Amino acid sequence: MAVKMKKILESLRVQPGKKIDLRNDYDPGCIGHFISKEDTEATTAAGIRLLAEQQDKLYAQNTYALLIILQAMDAAGKDSTIKHVMSGVNPQGVQVTSFKVPSAEELDHDYLRRCCVALPNRGNIGIFNRSYYEEVLVVRVHPEYLERQQLPPSLNDRHIWSRRFEEINNFEKYLTDNGIVVLKLFLNVSKEEQKKRFLVRVDEPDKNWKFSAADIHERTCWDGYMDAYEEMFNNTSTPYAPWYIIPADHKWFTRLAVVSAINETLDRLHLAFPEVTKEQKEALLVAKAEMERENAEAPGRKNKAVKKRGKKS
Ligand code: ATP
Ligand code: MG
Repeated sequence: MAVKMKKILESLRVQPGKKIDLRNDYDPGCIGHFISKEDTEATTAAGIRLLAEQQDKLYAQNTYALLIILQAMDAAGKDSTIKHVMSGVNPQGVQVTSFKVPSAEELDHDYLRRCCVALPNRGNIGIFNRSYYEEVLVVRVHPEYLERQQLPPSLNDRHIWSRRFEEINNFEKYLTDNGIVVLKLFLNVSKEEQKKRFLVRVDEPDKNWKFSAADIHERTCWDGYMDAYEEMFNNTSTPYAPWYIIPADHKWFTRLAVVSAINETLDRLHLAFPEVTKEQKEALLVAKAEMERENAEAPGRKNKAVKKRGKKS
């Protein structure tokens, strides 16, 4: 990966232990050293191809899984980022799960449970479109969600958020220690850009389906969300599961940054196709010899079959 891109990623990573100021330290309109969409197209396409190659090895090796957590305000581009960045990857190796308002059944369990059952298999990339992080975001901004969780009253106190941060950090350490690599991406859209995208959703008939009146209500809670996000970054960006704050006002830059962050994470795993042992190699040669013998023993049979097929058509 180019040194410049590595530097950009470094600046987007929330350094563990460092306190950030989300509004002032991270510009949603950042485009790095690029000047336009055209300027990034070749690099993004190369990144998507590299991701496909890495994923083939991840799948063949069947040792690690990659869990990508995507969080964002509405209209930041989670869905379209998944669609574009994953466009070259073998669909068999990817599992995408979207987390919505919990059902009554889900609320009858602890909050991590529904995410546990959706974790990616070894060899796969799992994408959480929203995640257990909603438990320290929307649930914090709207305390009525917490009321529905039927927690014992003594545990529903002012320390609940710091306990949840600790629980989440422990959970992600556990995943990492079991070969599930965690990469967390926040698509950072500005309030102005969100408004523009909402207006497009209202004005363009093909995009009307994407618009929800509830999104407008969430927009009025913008500052509350930014505070909750900032607290979350300051408490859950860890050496084993860091947060990246991805600028999201320019979708073309978002895609490049996301594919680069994924490739950099996979790079660190030094993925390779499994090497066959001497015995396995010998077995392969025996199998090859057997197949070659088949052809040598019955050379006419193949021709007859071809002739028959030819007559039919
Ligand atoms: P899009 O709008 O692009 O379709 P989305 O992720 O916003 O995608 P929606 O169906 O609009 O999907 O919204 C899902 C909603 O579910 C979000 O408002 C989110 O905050 C909420 N949600 C997710 N997890 C929880 C949770 N644990 N508790 C309460 N609300 C949650
Ligand atoms: Mg939504």
